[in-house]
Amino acid sequence: MTSNEQLTQEIKAEAKRLGFFACGMARADRVSAAAERHLRQWLDSGMNADMDWMHNYLDKRIDPRLLMDGLQTIVCVAASYAPARTLPEGEPQIAAYALGQDYHDLLKRRLHQLAAFALRRRAGDDAPTPETTGDAPRYRVFVDSGPVLERYWAVQAGLGWIGRNQQLIIPRAGSMFFLGELFLDFELCYDTPMPDRCGSCHRCIDHCPTHALLPNRDFDARRCLSYQTIENRGELSPEAREAMGDCIYGCDRCQQACPWNRFATPNATPELQPKPELLAMTREKWQHLSEEDYRRLFKGSAVKRAKYAGLMRNISNLFRNFTP
Ligand code: SF4
Ligand code: SF4
Repeated sequence: MTSNEQLTQEIKAEAKRLGFFACGMARADRVSAAAERHLRQWLDSGMNADMDWMHNYLDKRIDPRLLMDGLQTIVCVAASYAPARTLPEGEPQIAAYALGQDYHDLLKRRLHQLAAFALRRRAGDDAPTPETTGDAPRYRVFVDSGPVLERYWAVQAGLGWIGRNQQLIIPRAGSMFFLGELFLDFELCYDTPMPDRCGSCHRCIDHCPTHALLPNRDFDARRCLSYQTIENRGELSPEAREAMGDCIYGCDRCQQACPWNRFATPNATPELQPKPELLAMTREKWQHLSEEDYRRLFKGSAVKRAKYAGLMRNISNLFRNFTP
């Protein structure tokens, strides 16, 4: 085994130790011509709804080397959010990824630890580190936080493939993962992309209540309940109002329908578990949720993205046809 192979294996082992379910390495490069064309066409079609920030830094999205001088390796990691406990059936529902604390800080903390390990192992345990020299660190971490095509790079790093439900599918593990990236300025041993294994299945398309997943593998965010209930600051679309059912924040139907999620192992990360107060919420309690309750219940939670007004708009949809 070469020293580079050994370092690659050590970084993967450390990623597992830090709680990342999967870790792979991709050579940093411009994305493929097909991926670039697809991204540009998708943005031009307006299917990104009013999420105009997706147009920002398009040059960097297409070529991540513009995000860091000397970038050579993108380490891709995945951390499970498959829930060990869900909200009671029949009560209003929140997307599984948002049941616990916000994942951004948690994953970034772990990625910084992984970076420190990688730099230390590469330099030798006694070599000076940015912490001891005060130099700027020679790495960057991203968790859904920069212009990085995270699923594209996860595929390049051999973690899985992008399913018809638009999620990264990891074999025998499903799609309920947070993704993160560590950018490094040295070479490692690279993984190879995995072939698509959706086969002839189209369960996610069949289960999408708003037809946001298109048969040609396109995705119309304007129709998706995740966009409608979280990102949309205006009125819910009439189609969303009809299709929401018990959803008050996000939607998991295309993931729940996916047979690969039968293999998902529930996450045991304490920070990602729902608070007892959230598990005890009932339809009536949601209806009367005050702004103060909201701030307490969702302190440090991804649900804050919808803001109080957005969440109450979604909750009021539960009662629109209700006659006492
Ligand atoms: S999250 Fe819901 S609405 Fe969006 S694509 Fe999946 S099933 Fe459809
Ligand atoms: S439900 Fe079927 S088609 Fe959709 S992502 Fe899963 S395996 Fe692929």
